[in-house]
Amino acid sequence: MIPVRAYFTLFTGYLRPHRRTGVLLAAIMLATIALQLANPQLIRIFIDEAIAGTAVGSLVPLAIAFMVIAVLHQLLMVWATYLAEQIGWSATNQLRADLTDHVLHLDMGFHKSTSPGALIERIDGDVTALSNFFSSMIIKIIGNGVLLVGILVLLWIESWIVGLSITTLILVTFLGLFRLHGVTVPWQKDIRATSAEMYGFIGEQIDGTEDVEANGATGYMLSRFDDIQRRWLPQVVLGWTGWALMWVSSMALYFASLMVAYLLGSWLFGVGTLTIGSVYIVFQYIEMAHRPIEQIREELIDLQKAGASIDRVQELMDTRTRLVQRSNATLAMGPLDVTFQDVTFTYDDEAGDEIVLDDVSFVIPSGRVVGLLGRTGSGKSTIARLITRLHEPQVGSVSVGGRATWDVDMTDLRRRVAMVTQDVQLFRATIRENLTFFDPDVPDDRLFEAIERLELDSWLATLPDGLDTVLDSGSGGLSAGQAQLLAFTRVFLRDPGVVVLDEASSRLDPATEALLERAVDHLLEDRTAILIAHRLETITRADDIIILDEGRIIEQGQRTRLAGDPNSKFSKLLATGMEEVLA
Ligand code: ATP
Ligand code: MG
Repeated sequence: MIPVRAYFTLFTGYLRPHRRTGVLLAAIMLATIALQLANPQLIRIFIDEAIAGTAVGSLVPLAIAFMVIAVLHQLLMVWATYLAEQIGWSATNQLRADLTDHVLHLDMGFHKSTSPGALIERIDGDVTALSNFFSSMIIKIIGNGVLLVGILVLLWIESWIVGLSITTLILVTFLGLFRLHGVTVPWQKDIRATSAEMYGFIGEQIDGTEDVEANGATGYMLSRFDDIQRRWLPQVVLGWTGWALMWVSSMALYFASLMVAYLLGSWLFGVGTLTIGSVYIVFQYIEMAHRPIEQIREELIDLQKAGASIDRVQELMDTRTRLVQRSNATLAMGPLDVTFQDVTFTYDDEAGDEIVLDDVSFVIPSGRVVGLLGRTGSGKSTIARLITRLHEPQVGSVSVGGRATWDVDMTDLRRRVAMVTQDVQLFRATIRENLTFFDPDVPDDRLFEAIERLELDSWLATLPDGLDTVLDSGSGGLSAGQAQLLAFTRVFLRDPGVVVLDEASSRLDPATEALLERAVDHLLEDRTAILIAHRLETITRADDIIILDEGRIIEQGQRTRLAGDPNSKFSKLLATGMEEVLA
């Protein structure tokens, strides 16, 4: 019902650093409970003394003690709440950080199959539900539990009949509440799953507003939105019904207890077992017991939410990346060779049908420039992704610098192998930050040197704030060509041994194109390069050519030799024009 073990592991791991605060918190809580229980005792004495006709002067100290205790109790409660919130937020922030870190290390397959909105809902939404669990729940469930036990003990001391009947009532209600709790957990799970789906959907829509509107898909998307909403509503209604059932049970308990107190109180007072002060104290304790019961009930609902969240957080934590880091070896400096040996690859392990690369083998000696050609969908970008180990081949091996990519430290591999993709991702930040990837340690003169080498200085000078111009997210409000120029500079700054340029197929204006051409020339100096090209100009700098078709290599060889051979596919490509054949 309540996954105690899962709670416990989360508890110990994330609360251990806050042990001392926790001990302090426990001490304060015990003190507040003791104070809370002591006050009615003072009133009982006060009432009994007053009725017995004691002089007012000796009652005043009792009244003062009562007020001091009440104020002290409130102050301690504030302190305890502060400490509990502090523990809760520090622990869950740590959990958020761990989850984010974990997710960032998962493979591309995971990221392609999980929408960003759903991830946000998990890392932030679910964890926020947990933060409640860490903070107020500790206070409320444990603290109120102890308070309740204290109240019962005092009731038993007052009169065993009252003690027995109230204890029985409370036990029966709690058993009922726990049963209800077990029934309603799955309801809460459904609600959270649908809410994750909902936010995932919204995130995706916001991302694709332009495409959705341009293609007139608004109506369809709205109907999908309706669909999710329509599924959501009954789930939420059911969830609140569960809440209401629990509320009704605890209210029933409260009224039943009051009834018992009236009946037993009047009877016991009548036969002289209890003084009027003791009858008062019975009422006061039953009244006091109501609050902790209410709070425990409310926390049980939060516990359900936390339970659903813990399951999902655990599930996310248990998602293992398919790209295990098996070695800390680093790659040499300077240009590196690249080898594909009998590589067969498909994106979807389970389905296993559509083979994207079929038994691909080639060797690129270090320092050579290879032009990779092929129709759209032939697997060119996939080859680039395998070199940077965003995915791993099912069969065969990919090596860089004489080492299989799985046998190299992942961070080092990605530092030494740079890839400029077809659509460059820019961040909503300054050009400087976009170039250095937010690394403030890159000195300005290195930045200027790179910019100068790639001959971008005159273009940057036309921007309003130069390097400090703030870009929009996505394409950054730049043309595809300009975005590629920035991406080149990024790569240049990292000084990689292998460069993979996945050329955007869009046409560029002549000025930017000329700039790009020169930048590519500089970028390729003293590096191994793979040029995935859509334009003839790009391909003229290749030493070798590889032509892909439907995931197979159909031709490879030296560019000049292939160009000279009238029967080669490459020379036919040159004759008919690349754009026509490959577009
Ligand atoms: P283009 O010239 O249009 O860029 P490409 O040669 O780069 O094409 P790839 O992107 O390598 O082609 O895609 C090869 C095949 O793999 C295509 O059939 C594509 O549908 C499929 N594919 C690409 N990316 C994924 C992915 N993330 N998940 C599943 N299949 C994919
Ligand atoms: Mg591609």
